[in-house]
Amino acid sequence: MNSLIPEASGRPGDDPIFSINAEANRRRAAGESVINASLGALMGDDGLLATMPVMFEALAAVDPRRAAAYAPIAGPPPFLDAVRRDALGDGPLFDRSVAVATPGGTGALFTAIVNFLEPGQALYVPHFYWAPYATLASHTGRAVETFPMFDAAGGIDVDAFERGLVLLLQRQGRALVILNFPCNNPTGYSLDDGEWRQMAAALERASAHGPVAVLADLAYAHFAEERYRWARALAPLSDRVTLLAAWTASKAFAQYGARVGSLVAVPKQPSERAAIENALTYSCRGTWSNCNHLGMLAITSVLVDPALRARADAERDALVTLLGARVVAFNTEARSLGLHYPRYEGGFFVSVFTPDPAHTVAECAREGVFVVPLDGAVRVALCSTPTADVPRLVAALGRGVAAAEAVAR
Ligand code: PLP
Repeated sequence: MNSLIPEASGRPGDDPIFSINAEANRRRAAGESVINASLGALMGDDGLLATMPVMFEALAAVDPRRAAAYAPIAGPPPFLDAVRRDALGDGPLFDRSVAVATPGGTGALFTAIVNFLEPGQALYVPHFYWAPYATLASHTGRAVETFPMFDAAGGIDVDAFERGLVLLLQRQGRALVILNFPCNNPTGYSLDDGEWRQMAAALERASAHGPVAVLADLAYAHFAEERYRWARALAPLSDRVTLLAAWTASKAFAQYGARVGSLVAVPKQPSERAAIENALTYSCRGTWSNCNHLGMLAITSVLVDPALRARADAERDALVTLLGARVVAFNTEARSLGLHYPRYEGGFFVSVFTPDPAHTVAECAREGVFVVPLDGAVRVALCSTPTADVPRLVAALGRGVAAAEAVAR
């Protein structure tokens, strides 16, 4: 008899993105000139991982005896204070918020899912979403429900969002909405102020049908022009809708491996505060127990020490500028070829629409260009594409989409 329970049998061993990455690396090692636009880490134009030197100084400066000790289950209070302020900005949301430490944004998403949705219920996301949301949902006995992300004019489809949310609330009595903006993975899309206001109005109306929690997945927020738009727009609803934020040092401090993150929550009423704090802390104890103490202490000093913080901001600005040059190059080339893709102003990824993503991916791969298939599009990781390679990348995409269109016709 199989030792694995039926639910765990037959799980895919590898994330499809990592298989595409392995193929790109294999062909590069065999001497081919390859553009690997599949992986979500920011690489310099030299092809090496981009890092922020201030982080290594901050890590080295942590007292070894503190670093080696267990961290508090919920996370060190100075870390939580610094992260709450960074996630929410100064103001009333910060004053009312609670937080727990989590291993990256992934841990924050897990903690939100198990505390704000019942088993069997579905979280609610746009049609284009980061694939591990589905893994997290299925692993925790939940599901994913989507709404069409874009309307005919190419903006966020607020009507579809509200219609689907109301139906979901009528069906399951509560909702957890996850909005990965700004710099959405996989599309690169950021909502503007007007779109956030419309989303807030839709959320306000929908919340009459049952408790709604809205999680801002801030994985890429530090790479946006404006990172507090969501908080400004949703703050007026914060007594009707539970606001959550998944904060992570992975991209913001180029510390993907440190696994430093936090789930920040703004309780609707002061009376809910202790229960939410206890529930989130209980989840920490029942999963990873406590997080990387060294990483949290280093991130705390970089967030609160003015000199370290200024250096971190300057080093990150350089990374934003590096990525910005690729975004400009992509927009220039892609517009001149007439590619269809969402408004793209910054962020690690952009997606290009195609009638047959598998065909487009295969055509690009024949040319040594590796991108990831989605439903109705391919995801292009500009974060891992050197600026000089962007014209070749876009040209391959143009041919890959044209080939798919020819087959679809
Ligand atoms: N959310 C999105 C949309 C992401 O793309 C990622 C990482 O790629 C994460 C959350 C979480 O990353 P981490 O767990 O490293 O913070």
